[in-house]
Amino acid sequence: MDAISYERAIDVAGAVRAAQQPGAVYIGGGTNLLDLMKGGVARPLRLIDITHIDGLDSVSALPDGGLRIGALVRNSDAANHARVREQYPLLSQALLAGASAQLRNMATVGGNLLQRTRCGYFYDTAFSHCNKRAPGSGCAALDGHNRMHAILGASPQCIAVNPSDMSVALAALDALVRVSGPGGERTIAFGEFHRLPGERPDVDTTLQPGELITAVDLPPPLFSAHSHYLKVRDRASYAFALVSVAAALQMDGERVQSARIALGGVAHKPWRANAAEQMLAGQPLTDATLKNAAAAALSGAQPRRENGFKVQLAQRAIVRAVKLAAGQSGGVA
Ligand code: SF4
Repeated sequence: MDAISYERAIDVAGAVRAAQQPGAVYIGGGTNLLDLMKGGVARPLRLIDITHIDGLDSVSALPDGGLRIGALVRNSDAANHARVREQYPLLSQALLAGASAQLRNMATVGGNLLQRTRCGYFYDTAFSHCNKRAPGSGCAALDGHNRMHAILGASPQCIAVNPSDMSVALAALDALVRVSGPGGERTIAFGEFHRLPGERPDVDTTLQPGELITAVDLPPPLFSAHSHYLKVRDRASYAFALVSVAAALQMDGERVQSARIALGGVAHKPWRANAAEQMLAGQPLTDATLKNAAAAALSGAQPRRENGFKVQLAQRAIVRAVKLAAGQSGGVA
């Protein structure tokens, strides 16, 4: 058994200072980290408890009309906050689609951003080939069970997917991640926060060593009238997405003024469907337009042996989610 030290931080500066020690990691809700530790996947030497830091557990209005959600706000509190429900229903829906009520009551917004892939080979240390867990060891999923794995943006080093529902909505909403670290404070555009695997699948995000997430900022609400989060999974609750779609629209009558579409369950990071968004902008929302946009979103897909079904599933999910966001029935085009 490894010895682990524990330190309770009372402010951000103290937490960042404590995290400079070798083997230190922050712990908030712990819903993922403790699982990783129990399985021997994560072996930190020091836990820096951030749950007693004042000011990170609140939701507050921003001067530009946006909303700041503190990193320690519980997922259930974020989902049920009045302003989130009214102005960012996409985020509320995505949060409530994730995990179980018990986990949502414990998990924090900051921790949700950092949850690691659910690839079975990553979690089971009996498998020696996992570049994410043991860099340079190979990837057992390439020729193994890969039904749940990526079809976009993967590399020969790793084909894992990001498991977060919340992050898919935040990608569509163009959120910002606020962090504090040894170099001071900075803000990371959401699309730049998570990484594709490339040659370094062991690195999930662009956080620098010791940086602490302090909040997520939402831009002023543009999509509250027309958005939908659609999650397709093997069972109705407490399951990770095979494919999910966060769709947000600005409508001008029957015409799409602008569209944001992000996909979950298909890549190592929430995947913005930029080509589809551009094809929908300025167009009437017809079945033909939607079908073409959905096809464009998956044009670069590279499915594996067991997950070819995800290509058509994602296309159909895009069509359904966009239609539902627009207030149409969600029939498949
Ligand atoms: Fe590990 Fe990634 Fe391969 Fe899964 S897909 S076995 S996480 S390297």
